[in-house]
Amino acid sequence: MSSNQTDVVFFDENGLRTDQRKPDEIRPMKIKIGVLSRANGSCYLEWGANKVIAAVYGPREAHPRRMQLANKAVIRYRYNMQSFSVEDRARPGPSRRSSEISKVSREAFEPVLFAEDYPKAAIDIFVEVLQADAGTRTAAINAASLALVDAGIPMRGLVSACAAGKVGGKIVLDLNKPEDNYGEADLPIAMTEDGKITLIQMDGHLTPSEFEEAMELVQKGCRQVLEIQKAALLEKFASVMDDDEEEI
Ligand code: UDP
Repeated sequence: MSSNQTDVVFFDENGLRTDQRKPDEIRPMKIKIGVLSRANGSCYLEWGANKVIAAVYGPREAHPRRMQLANKAVIRYRYNMQSFSVEDRARPGPSRRSSEISKVSREAFEPVLFAEDYPKAAIDIFVEVLQADAGTRTAAINAASLALVDAGIPMRGLVSACAAGKVGGKIVLDLNKPEDNYGEADLPIAMTEDGKITLIQMDGHLTPSEFEEAMELVQKGCRQVLEIQKAALLEKFASVMDDDEEEI
């Protein structure tokens, strides 16, 4: 996020963005659920040029045992960026950035998980970023949400994530890499199906009225993502549901 790049052109003469999107349009998303056979649940997700894979394990006995909680499951979330995922090699291993993203993403899921039903257990969520192009934390959350469903972990509903931001003085949805690099603000959120916001972060500057506009837009973005997630789940599990109906 840098505000001194005023020479960057973000919109063409038709008001379209560098990747031909309208200001309120999200990047195309592709989803494949159940891609890893060792994990209890998994999901591969592409969002624009972002590529992430999520794996979920549990609920299973928490190890090391000192991490066990007597009255509920411990939820662990690890966001990791592969060194080959970015233009300049990312330094392998945890960083301040990845620790922060892991923490806020874990908190984004806590309200929808029934941790209290699994004392001493762990629910482990791992997300690997294979290719990054801005918006990896939101892509990771969207993939993790579906991997949790694939693992059969009961949830109060899905979590959907998206970002809005300000580029060239305009509020836009789902920033791509140049917009993230040279724009004025980035506002990623995660939202439950019933509209509760479970993650909110902001980088850059927005006036109070711009913030309101961005919040309205980003919640619309989350609802669009939710529809895509639901469609992916239907595609994956519709045949299972059909089989169940036949058995009744
Ligand atoms: N990025 C990078 N190297 C890093 C961290 C980030 O090249 O070590 C790039 C990557 O494309 C990422 C983008 O910068 O998607 C924006 O990063 P940010 O921290 O805003 O997180 P994100 O938008 O991916 O959630």
